[in-house]
Amino acid sequence: MFTEDEINPMENVTASELAGFAVGALLVCATISAPRIDAFISSSQRRSLGMCKRCGDLRMIACSKCKGVGSTKSGGVFAELYESFGKDEPNAPSIPCTRCNAKGRFPCPDCCSQMP
Ligand SMILES: [Zn+2]
Ligand SMILES: [Zn+2]
Repeated sequence: MFTEDEINPMENVTASELAGFAVGALLVCATISAPRIDAFISSSQRRSLGMCKRCGDLRMIACSKCKGVGSTKSGGVFAELYESFGKDEPNAPSIPCTRCNAKGRFPCPDCCSQMP
């Protein structure tokens, strides 16, 4: 049993502050590493399950041109220039993606090409 003399209030504050800091640091670490851990687990899971490594047996992959949206901004060179800066060209109309025929995805070449 503790008497009041044995509990140092300053030590209590420091301990809880340290605990709070540790929890915060852990949360930050978990947030940063979670996607990587997730990717690692899912890829090893896919391999162990014999699933397609590229699409995870979804049998389709997202279109790289429209990023799965199915439409792109028209505007030719300027739109691509804006895109390379990570911005959308303002007021550019959306047009159906020509690469995927506006589907936003392709049949997976890794597993769908083996399909009859
Ligand atoms: Zn597309
Ligand atoms: Zn596949």
